[in-house]
Amino acid sequence: MPKAIIIYGPPGSGKGTQAELLTKKYNVIHFDTGRYIENLVHSSAAKKSEILMRERKNFDDGILCTPEWVLKITRDEAERIAKARFSIAFSGSPRTLFEAFGDEKNEGLIAALTRVFGKKNIQVIHITVPEEDSLKRNSARFLCRVCGLPRLASVKGNHCALCAGELRKRTLDDPKVIVTRLREYRERTYPIIAVLKKKGIKITIINGRPLPYKVHEQIVKSLKME
Ligand SMILES: [Zn+2]
Repeated sequence: MPKAIIIYGPPGSGKGTQAELLTKKYNVIHFDTGRYIENLVHSSAAKKSEILMRERKNFDDGILCTPEWVLKITRDEAERIAKARFSIAFSGSPRTLFEAFGDEKNEGLIAALTRVFGKKNIQVIHITVPEEDSLKRNSARFLCRVCGLPRLASVKGNHCALCAGELRKRTLDDPKVIVTRLREYRERTYPIIAVLKKKGIKITIINGRPLPYKVHEQIVKSLKME
């Protein structure tokens, strides 16, 4: 049965890496909301759509995209993936209570996932790392300029291991920005996990301190995909 896997964890906990590792092992599509929006608003089709051009301006100005619109495109994509009988892995989203649960006018993502995957096939993987580790890891984080792949903090070298591209630091990984991102995570994501638990969604807590392949093994064990 295809699953909807929601991976939560503070910045630097390796959510994106873990989602990517799942795509290598199973029929899982990694849905990275930020990257998806970036590609969508910069696609050639975007020029024909007033809505996409509006969101493109928000995106490029660093303003949050319209929440109702983000929710709608995320729901649509989740449905498309479910229909194709693939599993979906979210890394860090839904990011707000509104995205997760919607309101009278907008179906929330969790309701949509329940409708297309079934409640018992939704699973939250909650990766925990202490805040000081999160800070340390983020300030040692570099990404490839060409393919976007991150370099592991524990590995030396100035070039990407996949394409030998040059590595760069992200503005998001500036220590001041990380403190804000950690607070955002505490204040905005934590409440979502508690509500999901109350609703009877399976939550698995995974220790994010070991090396990524070990964390991956723990996640694989808990998902029971085979
Ligand atoms: Zn690269």
